[in-house]
Amino acid sequence: MRIVVSGRLPDVVRERLEAQHEVILNLHDAPMARADLLDQVANSDGLLCMITDRVDAELLDRAPNLKMVANCGVGYDNIDVADCSRRGILVSNTPGVLTEATAELTWALILAISRNVVSGDAYTRAGRFRFWAPLHFLGTEVSGKTLGIIGMGRIGRAVARRAAGFQMPVCYYSRSPLPEDAAAGFEGEAVSFDALLERADFVTLHLPLTRETQHLIDAAALARMKSNAFLINTARGPVVDETALVGALRSGQIAGAALDVYENEPALAPGLAELDNVVLLPHMGSATWETRTRMTALAAENLLAGLAGRQPPNCLNWPSSRSADT
Ligand code: NAP
Repeated sequence: MRIVVSGRLPDVVRERLEAQHEVILNLHDAPMARADLLDQVANSDGLLCMITDRVDAELLDRAPNLKMVANCGVGYDNIDVADCSRRGILVSNTPGVLTEATAELTWALILAISRNVVSGDAYTRAGRFRFWAPLHFLGTEVSGKTLGIIGMGRIGRAVARRAAGFQMPVCYYSRSPLPEDAAAGFEGEAVSFDALLERADFVTLHLPLTRETQHLIDAAALARMKSNAFLINTARGPVVDETALVGALRSGQIAGAALDVYENEPALAPGLAELDNVVLLPHMGSATWETRTRMTALAAENLLAGLAGRQPPNCLNWPSSRSADT
């Protein structure tokens, strides 16, 4: 069969796909241009796509032979899964393998924004570090502060487990009660959305982007947060109303924000990059050698299973009428 891979792959994963199928590769460290992607899917059976590719009606209309879309990412808001299902196209994602890497980056952001890590680095590089002074670069201590986690799934829980090292009480808000085995490894109190915003010193987001979560953090939510609190977002940009966030940061309604993702990625809301009380990263939550190797390998495994007529390990729309190995 013919497979299109829209992002660069580690050699070991590429070789695995090439051993079984004709593979059209993107050899550049940049997303495949939309026009090229539309051309390439036209006569392909499988697509291994990145979270930057929109798999929508326009693309699906161009791909009459497509049987499987394997996303390289746990979030799949870039894919119209319902439309794929209607057309009999399987869709998969890569849950679990990026949990620890994304939780680590969340903590990097918590520490970076509260302890002026980025501005301190810039100051030192610029040759401005000439003396120690008792009131220079004063940040906010993390230890003992309250961590508020919104979306207590795999990554939210991995973030919570690390809070014990900073003696931080954890409160969380999530859609469903946690299964008993999921609550192992951390202590946390389930609270309402409003109570979390009012109580937390650090509010960190770990929800998928859906119709319900878009702009969950809007002007009203920001107004509920404490004026000395920080917002951390390693989930998806549109969960936050970025224009409202710029307003809240400018007026001092909240103390700061550390973001890995943006509402109109890769563009930033006007004024965001000019603020001193932000740390801004280029969507690199899962960007470790270990995790990206596991993610691409899992996406390839899903794709190979689906094309072989087997149920992919992380299929999002396996038809209930099909058994697992037909
Ligand atoms: P997950 O295990 O599915 O966790 C998501 C949690 O959010 C679940 O507990 C879910 O509840 C909850 N949730 C969903 N909708 C909600 C709502 N409307 N209100 C309250 N809670 C809601 O997913 P994960 O593996 O932790 O990943 C979370 C997200 O992180 C991904 O979807 C992705 O967008 C993002 N991410 C970003 C990066 C990055 O590079 N920055 C890397 C990895 C992941 P239920 O249990 O009821 O479903």
